[in-house]
Amino acid sequence: MNLKTEIIQIHELSVQLTWKSNVRMMRVRVVPPNGTICATAPRWTSRKAVIAFLTDRYEWMQKAVQKVQSHLRPTPLNYTEGEQVLLFGVPYTLHIQTVLPKEKAHVSLDGQSITLHIQTSSTREKRAALLQSFYKERLSMAVSVYMNDYQSKLSCAPIPFRILRRKSVWGTFNVRSRSIIFNLALAQVPLECVQYVVLHEMTHQYVHAHNAEFYQRMSAFMPDWKQRRSTLKTISVAPLG
Ligand SMILES: [Zn+2]
Repeated sequence: MNLKTEIIQIHELSVQLTWKSNVRMMRVRVVPPNGTICATAPRWTSRKAVIAFLTDRYEWMQKAVQKVQSHLRPTPLNYTEGEQVLLFGVPYTLHIQTVLPKEKAHVSLDGQSITLHIQTSSTREKRAALLQSFYKERLSMAVSVYMNDYQSKLSCAPIPFRILRRKSVWGTFNVRSRSIIFNLALAQVPLECVQYVVLHEMTHQYVHAHNAEFYQRMSAFMPDWKQRRSTLKTISVAPLG
């Protein structure tokens, strides 16, 4: 019989812990395809003992999650004709169109496709830079809308933000400068996940840790944040480079 399930945070890792009456030992495993960490503990164990057990296995869990998730990671984009690219979770076909020698390179978007209007001689790097500038513009628009909305809801002063390429984090709140860096790759995830990251980082201006108070504040403005977070965790986006 399952008695209780809860999420235990060991540094950045969320562990789904189930207390059971019919097990004798604590166990932890990493479940494919998303690298969900599941642990079971006998119901007579103390929470403190479970945390100590998991903390001991922190490095193992980190490696196991990485190993499982490495299968999910898609290959980088080639930026070539007919390739599929994502904008806010929606797939588009990438088209490459040649512009006249004096025309400026630009990007256009319609219902099914994103077209890079660029010189014939353009390199992969130039096409990448063009698509990334388009992503940056779109993401900046979306982030601004959500930030303005939450700034008025939280009655807080505007928080400056930047959009940069980041390898492993969706966002970072800098306490010292009271500013946020968002990962450019967010332009590829659904808007509800972008909105989740915006509120998450803005909440860090009040609470630094991911503790109960932090999640209470999140829930007050976004009752379904957990669902959005798990969507974000299962999403795989192309590394932008
Ligand atoms: Zn955080």
